Formats: sequence, C-alpha cells, structure tokens
Amino acid sequence: MKNDIQYLPGVGPKRALLLKNELGIFTLEDLIHFYPFRYLDRSSVTPIAEVTPDVAYVQVQGKVVSRNLINIKHLSIMVEDDSGRMEMVFFKGVKWTYDKLEPGRTFLFFGKPQSFNGRINIVHPEIDNPVQDTSARGVLTGVYPSTEKLKNGGVTGKVMCKLEQAALSLCLGEVHETLPESIIRAHGLCPLPYALKNIHFPDDQRALALASRRLKFEELFFLQLSLLKQRYVRSRAANGIPMPHVGPAFHACFGALPYSLTGAQQRVIKEIRADLSSGSQMNRLLQGDVGSGKTMVAVLSCLIAVGNGYQTCIMAPTEVLAKQHYANILKYLAPTGVRCALLTGSTSRKDRRPILEGLADGSIGIVVGTHALIEDTVQYKALGLAVIDEQHRFGVDQRATLWSKGPGAPPHVLVMTATPIPRTLAMTLYGDLDVSIIDEMPPGRKPVQTMLIGQNRLPAMYRFMREQIAMGRQCFVVYPMIFINEKLEDVSNVEQGYEDILKAFPLEEGYKVAIVHGQQSNEQKEFNMSAFAEGRAHILVSTTVIEVGVDVPNASVMVIRSAQRFGLSQLHQLRGRVGRGAEKSYCILVKDPKTSREAEQRLELMCSTEDGFEIAEQDMKMRGPGDLEGTQQSGLPISLGIASLTRDGLLLEEARHCAQSVLDGDPSLEKPQNAVLLRELRKGKFELRDYSNIS
Ligand code: ADP
Ligand code: MG
Repeated sequence: MKNDIQYLPGVGPKRALLLKNELGIFTLEDLIHFYPFRYLDRSSVTPIAEVTPDVAYVQVQGKVVSRNLINIKHLSIMVEDDSGRMEMVFFKGVKWTYDKLEPGRTFLFFGKPQSFNGRINIVHPEIDNPVQDTSARGVLTGVYPSTEKLKNGGVTGKVMCKLEQAALSLCLGEVHETLPESIIRAHGLCPLPYALKNIHFPDDQRALALASRRLKFEELFFLQLSLLKQRYVRSRAANGIPMPHVGPAFHACFGALPYSLTGAQQRVIKEIRADLSSGSQMNRLLQGDVGSGKTMVAVLSCLIAVGNGYQTCIMAPTEVLAKQHYANILKYLAPTGVRCALLTGSTSRKDRRPILEGLADGSIGIVVGTHALIEDTVQYKALGLAVIDEQHRFGVDQRATLWSKGPGAPPHVLVMTATPIPRTLAMTLYGDLDVSIIDEMPPGRKPVQTMLIGQNRLPAMYRFMREQIAMGRQCFVVYPMIFINEKLEDVSNVEQGYEDILKAFPLEEGYKVAIVHGQQSNEQKEFNMSAFAEGRAHILVSTTVIEVGVDVPNASVMVIRSAQRFGLSQLHQLRGRVGRGAEKSYCILVKDPKTSREAEQRLELMCSTEDGFEIAEQDMKMRGPGDLEGTQQSGLPISLGIASLTRDGLLLEEARHCAQSVLDGDPSLEKPQNAVLLRELRKGKFELRDYSNIS
C-alpha cells in the first residue's frame, strides 16, 4: 500500500510524476483512495433533439460536423446525431480540444445544457470515446477527475481505470478496517474493502450507494472527530485567563443603554460570560446578520475583560470600518470612564506615541483598529480579549501574532461575522469553535422592499430615486467587480455607470454623485466614501468595496446593477446597507437582458426573504459550497474527498453525533476499541489548521 506509484505496472517514472504533480497521488494507497466523481451509465444517452436546459446534466453522443475557432479563447463545435444538432462551446483548453475533435469523428459529450440566444449548447462538456460495445449497457464506469496535462501524458480515463484495477488487486487484501465494529453495525455501514472495490467498479447501483455512503461517513466522521477532539483538549487545558467578575464598567454601560437588549443578545452575552469565567480560553464565533446588534455584544464583552483588569482590542478589516466602530463604541463607553483609542496604519507618529504608552502601561482599556494593532511595536500590558470583526480577512499568521501578545496565556477570542454560514459549513469550518448566533433583529427595523427589474425600467427607477432624494434620502448604485483573465476590469464598467448616473442626475439640477472603486487610492476611496457618509453626495456609485462597509442610516435605496452576477450572500450583505435608519428602504435588483432562468430564480429568492440564514442555505444549494468558500472564506482549511457539504448534510449530522458520543465515552481515545480511531487520526489527514494552538 505504501509502495511508490511508479512501480505499478502501467505507470513508470514519467506517469508517476504526472500523478504526483497533478493529483497528489504518491502511493498505491493514495491511488485507491482517489475516487471517481461520477459514473457513466453507458445506456443513458439522450437524443440531441430531446435535450432541454431544465436538466442538470445530460449525455449525448454525436458526430463532429464542424469546428469553428472564433478566437484564440473561444471554440465552437457543432455535433449531430440522428435527431438533431447542437453546439459545444470551449473557452479553455481550446487548442487541445480543437485537435481532438476532428470533423467526422463521434464522441460522447457530458455536461450541463443551457439555453443561449434561443438555442441549446453545452459549455465545457466532458468528452469521451463513443459507446461501441452494446453489451456494456447498464454497467457503471467510473469517471475520474483529470487535467489536460494528464490527458496529454496518456493518462486517459481508460488508463486510470486500469491503474485502479491493478492497484486494487494488489492492495485490497491489505486494507484494514478503520472504524470499530460497533460503529459499523450501529450505522449500517459496509466493510471498507467492499466499499473500495465498489466505489471504483460498482457491481450495480445498490453496491455503489453502499460504498459511497460508507466512504462519505468515514470522511465526515474523522473530520468531526478531529475537530471535536481539539475542542475537548482545549476546554480541558486550563490555560485561559480567568475573568470571574462582571465589573462596574459593564454595569455602567448596560444601565445607560437607551434600549433593552434583544433576547438573542442577552443569550449570547450569557454564553460569553460563561466562557470568560470558565478558566479555559474562549474561541467563539458570533454570527449575526448586518444590524442584529453585534457591536453592542462586543462592547459588553470587552467591558467584562476590563472589569477583570485586562485590556481588549477590536480589529476591523478596513480603516473605514475601524473608524466607524470607534465612533460607535465611544458612545457606549461614555458612561463608563474606560479609556479607548483608535490605532490604524494612518495614525500619525505624534498621536501614536501616547497610544502605545497607554497600551503598555495598561491605562487604555479598549483599542480599536486594523492590522496595525498587532504590529511588533504594539505592546500590551495585559491583553485579555481580542474581538475580530469579519474574521476571514485575517490570516493564520496574524492570528498567531495576536496570540503572542497575551500575558502568558493566550487572550480570549471573539470572532464576529455578518455572513450567515449554513449549518453544515459552520460545523466544518468552525467545528472547533463555539458558535453563538444572534437570530433576532432589534425592534423597529423596517423590512427592505426588494424588487427585480429589467433595464427597460431604468427610467422609472431614476424617477423613483429623484423622489427619494427630494425627500432628503440617499442612494447606493453598485456594480459588480469584473475580472477578465484574472485582472480586475471593473473600472470601465463602474465608470460607464457613473457617466450614466451623471446624465440622469446632472450637477446643474443640484445632484451630487460620488464614485468609489477598487482602483482608487485609499485616500480617494475614503474621501468619496465620507462625502456620501456625511451627506454631501446624494448618490454613491461603486463596486462591491462597500460590501462590508460604512453605515449610512440616511441611505434608503440600494440599486444593484447586473445583479445576476452577484452571489446571494453578497446581495444580502449589500441589501443590509440600507434599512438602517428610520425610513422605509428599497433594494432594486437590475438584471441584464441575457440573464439565465436559474440566475433569475436566485434573484426572485432575494425578493421573497430577508432571512440571511435561509439565503445562505439556498445559496449553498444552488452554487455548491466551493463557490461559497471561494468568495467568502479565504480557502477552506480542509478538503473533502468524497463527501459534499451541500448534499450530505444529514450524514454529516449523523457522523458528528457519532464522533461526539465516542468522545463522551473516551475523550482521549485510550480504550482498546478506539485504538483504531486514534491511529487514523494520527495520519493527520483531517487536521484543521488550528490557529488557537499556534504559539
Ligand atoms: P451589527 O454590528 O450586528 O451590524 P450594530 O451593533 O451596528 O449591528 O447595531 C445596529 C443598530 O441597532 C445600531 O444602531 C444599534 O445602536 C442598534 N441596536 C443594537 N442593539 C439594539 C437593541 N437591543 N435594541 C434597539 N436597537 C439596537
Ligand atoms: Mg457592525
């Protein structure tokens, strides 16, 4: 099993290198754990005339009739069968595909059909050799993930199958069970060797289902076991800073609040108080929609730390946000007498000195800022709690630096995020954190009326914006970031939009319009943003830089152009920018003419709900967690081989319960029946980058 892949018949040094570089397969064991991502049932080929865009995937078999190289990055192939013709489109691997798809030859094409200009095509279909052998009907053949380099190096789908066959016949006898008998029985799992054989070469659909369930369960189980075990270790190690008191500052602030806390806020503060007084280090994720009142909770938590003689820092991802936090927090702190400071990259040398001194001698209780807070020159007397806002912008290294700033023991950590994360993803991404959710909005927040319009209604929309501006309100107009060849190309887009707005809202009539985009310098951005925030501009035209941005309670209209290009969660964040003041607010989603039906459905969902969690769940279902992670998290710290966070939510819960009950009975996995689990965990496959333990 541990043998180098190179010595497997059919591999050799050249292919071995390819398998290592392209797929990370080094040993026979790696190879047999590299699974097909789908199966071809050779009997299910759809006649071209019957293909509709409503199905998720389709397989057609057709002869290439023409190939049209539209440009170096766009290849169009026309294929036909007895029933009709359709187009296959390629924007990647154009040369390779062009050479392969010679007119007159027949291939199998597999992919997602879509409707484009009234005709159906498939973009980037997978291409396979045609079905020749009719006796193969009903037999499931695994299709393995591949790359262009692999195909060029002769490691085709067929070769992969042969290699798997060879590896299995050598290793299957050596495969040992990785789960205790009791778990296998309790969860109705098939034995591991059976699963491995059938995931590659299924006897039939039922055998495949059994194999896949077993392997998915195993993967999710070990992931959860590893996460939960880390949590056990941390909660038992009494290395946290004990904060048994609440203290006068907390009471002073609390007593002066002009409103009472929502039930959710009260619950979360209780959870945090319990953590802080427990003697273990707190690692808590605080999730709550934009406007749910997280800042309040953060401030009260900081005041508990202050009440125990410790300092706290609040880190924001941008300077604008740090300033806004600081201004808000000062208001809350007024009745407490706690000294608070703002420290960012642009704090002047002169202002910086007294702040650094105040942090070093302990006279500053709360410091708000950006990454500047964890620079080497910043020394704390006793940092007891760090609040991190929008945590995904902070890297592992920065967290590690933060840790080193504690007074011996690491500071408690409260991570705040306004991005609602679906349960299954949260259980995985933050499986080792405790999660608090503020799922209740402060009273008095008015719903944001959301509507979806086409470009033909822009004139009516402009009229509506003028009415709102006449009533003293302000409007956002947001354009998507556009990347072409990985380069940011949003400028022309948003600048064109700016021109359009200037035409519809001319200066001569007294309208003032500001523009903010990613290509501006920080000073330009801040200048324009504050012009809007301070009410000197009626309209802010921007790209998504305002997503996690400023609070402008007077803004009542959020226009989102090319709305179909945004993810749902992103739209939700943007919409959260309005509806923060006393006025009724509106979100207008403008779709482009060629918006697909699918994209339109996503936009319709936005119009029907304001519940961030529901939107996040739907977003993940529609796009898959990959995208979600790609846009919102800086990379998932683990990669799943076979299970899917989208589709296997129930199995994930089952696996997590199972892992929990194993640990409840045997926290350090010392019992003989759990030895096998410890052995698997030690292989380290499921280790999260555990930033809480970086020293
Ligand atoms: P978040 O940080 O979650 O986006 P904030 O803490 O900025 O939310 O709160 C949004 C607004 O709601 C602020 O103006 C805040 O003063 C107000 N607020 C917070 N908690 C309450 C409450 N319990 N009752 C009424 N208003 C509240
Ligand atoms: Mg906030």
